[in-house]
Amino acid sequence: KGERLRLPEWLKREIPMGENYSHLKSSLRNLNLHTVCEEAKCPNIGECWGGQSGTATATIMVLGDTCTRGCRFCSVKTARNPPPPDPNEPVHTAEAIAQWGLDYVVLTSVDRDDMPDGGAAHFAQTVREIKSRKPQVLVECLTPDFRGDLRGVDTVADSGLDVYAHNVETVAELQKFVRDPRANYKQSLAVLKRAKEGRPNMVTKTSIMLGLGETDDEVLRVMEDLRKIDVDCLTLGQYMQPTKRHLKVKEYLHPDKYKHWQEVGDKMGFAYTASGPLVRSSYKAGEFFIKNLLE
Ligand code: SF4
Ligand code: SF4
Repeated sequence: KGERLRLPEWLKREIPMGENYSHLKSSLRNLNLHTVCEEAKCPNIGECWGGQSGTATATIMVLGDTCTRGCRFCSVKTARNPPPPDPNEPVHTAEAIAQWGLDYVVLTSVDRDDMPDGGAAHFAQTVREIKSRKPQVLVECLTPDFRGDLRGVDTVADSGLDVYAHNVETVAELQKFVRDPRANYKQSLAVLKRAKEGRPNMVTKTSIMLGLGETDDEVLRVMEDLRKIDVDCLTLGQYMQPTKRHLKVKEYLHPDKYKHWQEVGDKMGFAYTASGPLVRSSYKAGEFFIKNLLE
């Protein structure tokens, strides 16, 4: 058992709160929306919610709060048979988002291996309900792998969303050690590939955590694999251990290293690469999308 590493300076920081942040925060109270931003106490909340005009981003969890899997980096609670999802959730979520004043919303979920379609139809319905009320809101879905059932991917990809995201989480070599055994690298690449093949104009996106013991060559190989299947956007950020029972951090990579991966990503032709210690898969997603892909 090794000692826990000390938290480096660049990860301790003041959380900047913009004016828009306070506005979104106070209007959230009555809407009964569960944001990952608040529940995970994400350090980027001021930047994401406060986003420069027209880019306010938040991540909303659908399909309940209990996952059927147990990845070693993740602190979401797990159960074999979680309660069924609320059938009114798509409508309620959409109504709340339409009122709330967001520009870019990330819908994400726990893995629902207990549901025949893994929750794909529920995701798709939520997107349709949002778009029918407020078509200008940009919607990203960060989906599970649907156990490799690509019909689930098609259902979500055909829902009218703007960005299809699925996270490979780590390099190929560490998948078994980091993710639930039901997840794997090939299956995740297949999800991203299918999303793109079905809708070539739709943006695809993935994310990896660094600091789990991966080598530079392994990271480079993931990036190459992602470009081969035309993934448009990549985010790289520092893994942080959520509780003592979770995987330990092997290394806190220096900010210069993140810059390096940013440059590599740019050279390799991703539409955008966001790389930094505090970058998360949805970090300022609205701002990046609007700046890099719409202009
Ligand atoms: Fe967490 Fe997703 Fe893994 Fe479930 S599948 S334990 S929500 S990372
Ligand atoms: Fe929310 Fe994601 Fe931004 Fe964190 S990085 S505040 S979870 S949108």
